[in-house]
Amino acid sequence: MKTLEEVLKDWEAVIGLEVHTELTTLDTKMFCNCRLSHNDPPNTNVCPVCLGMPGALPVPNKKAIQSIVMAGLATNCQIMKHSMFYRKHYFYPDMAKNYQTTQGPVAFCMHGHLDLKVSGAGAKERPAWETLAGDGETEIEREEDGSYTAPIRILRIHMEEDAAKMVHSGGEEGRITGAAESFVDYNRCGTPLIELVTEPDLRTPEEARLFMEKLQQTFRTLGISDCSLESGSMRCDGNISLRRRGEKRLGTKAEMKNINSFKSLHDALEYEIRRQAEVLEEGGIIYQETRHWEPSKRRTIVMRQKETADDYRLMPDPDLAPFDLSDEFIDDCRSRIPELPDEKCARYEKSYGIKHADAAQLAGDPDVSKFFEEALEGVEGKAVAMVANVMVNLAPSYDALAPAQVASIAKLLAADAITFAQAREVLDAVNGTDKDPEAVVDERGMRQVSDAGALEPIVDEVLARCTDQVAQYKAGNKKVVGYLVGQCMKASKGKGNPKRFNEMLTAKLEA
Ligand code: ADP
Ligand code: MG
Ligand code: ZN
Repeated sequence: MKTLEEVLKDWEAVIGLEVHTELTTLDTKMFCNCRLSHNDPPNTNVCPVCLGMPGALPVPNKKAIQSIVMAGLATNCQIMKHSMFYRKHYFYPDMAKNYQTTQGPVAFCMHGHLDLKVSGAGAKERPAWETLAGDGETEIEREEDGSYTAPIRILRIHMEEDAAKMVHSGGEEGRITGAAESFVDYNRCGTPLIELVTEPDLRTPEEARLFMEKLQQTFRTLGISDCSLESGSMRCDGNISLRRRGEKRLGTKAEMKNINSFKSLHDALEYEIRRQAEVLEEGGIIYQETRHWEPSKRRTIVMRQKETADDYRLMPDPDLAPFDLSDEFIDDCRSRIPELPDEKCARYEKSYGIKHADAAQLAGDPDVSKFFEEALEGVEGKAVAMVANVMVNLAPSYDALAPAQVASIAKLLAADAITFAQAREVLDAVNGTDKDPEAVVDERGMRQVSDAGALEPIVDEVLARCTDQVAQYKAGNKKVVGYLVGQCMKASKGKGNPKRFNEMLTAKLEA
């Protein structure tokens, strides 16, 4: 198979995502009062409504509607005041009613968009000469470092409910084929679920990965879901087709399921782009089919072929009255939206003078940004940027640091009292305890001496003693200053600040 880079010279990859997110932070299910929980014994959180008993009537969860409207506002969607629920019929034991309650042509949220900032190595996946955004109209501008911003349109976000969990035992990989027994756990049945569908505007696996990541950060910041790809509270289907460069018509797409990490999403799309190019270049055709990504074998395999559209007999649900959202309700949802990652990132860059990539990392995760802002309390001057530096470069290696400990380490580093290597040693010692890094530095006698008055006699002594090296320096061998710093460090028993020694030695040698 050709590489992704080779394929994308001749072919344009067209990608659209369908993302399901469980509203895990709610207390109860979508249409009944059953508790939402993940680890209760099977079939303990059930009632006549979510078990589909005849005559049981659903009542929509107002908080779930609030969550989806917040999701829509945060992704620049139009909030539709009038919409309704539909029944999507199918027969399978994971839905006892034999239909899923979902939305029809009009969803609560329609026609939004997110702007994706693509930078670093991932920005190279899109050929530099390819500057048209997915909407086919907007030109994409490249920065000098190759990064660019791609607008991605969102078709809709609709409200629906999750199905029960099926467990197949005795077969291979938990699949139904060859299984001896199948179990159904209705605890998950009726969990509020929002489905976001993008327009086919994504052009590279990296853009798809970043879109998912941005969605995860946005929904987590809104507090509407824990968005765990691993546990399945956020799930993504990747639709992908190829077309010749310059062609306007869309090619036939394949849909990829079973994607449970950002890396899988990227790699599955990359594989599928290369596979489709090979098929097409050999004169074959792409079937509209559902494929399954096998991470261990790094390939996709066919799950089922779609020859005709499934007929779900979609029809308005007579048990649920159409919605009429009021301006007050929508305004209240708007007022609940906290500062979103993009705004937060811009604020961090501007107020704290930290570089974009670091600011984006700190602003992306609500727990991380909360920790960061707590660590900043009472910190001033140079130490502010150092808190960010410690958060990005040191803190992620530790699991139990307190914000005050990060602040304290940052202050020590900003004052040149310790080196980065020493900071690691101190963090090893305080992680998971309530010890203050300052105290550890003092206990272990680690504090570096940076005071010129204390360092100067040592510098003078070393210069007087090392006459050969001084002569070499004057003859143009500037590297010898490293040796002299070493001598100063030895003479100070490792306590002197090497940066200061270097500065003082250079100043005296150049004088
Ligand atoms: P389906 O009915 O098979 O689910 P939809 O038309 O609802 O298909 O589209 C589902 C997703 O696939 C959307 O994100 C859409 O943008 C994307 N999509 C549609 N057609 C194509 C195509 N030809 N190539 C790539 N993605 C596509
Ligand atoms: Mg689909
Ligand atoms: Zn119930």
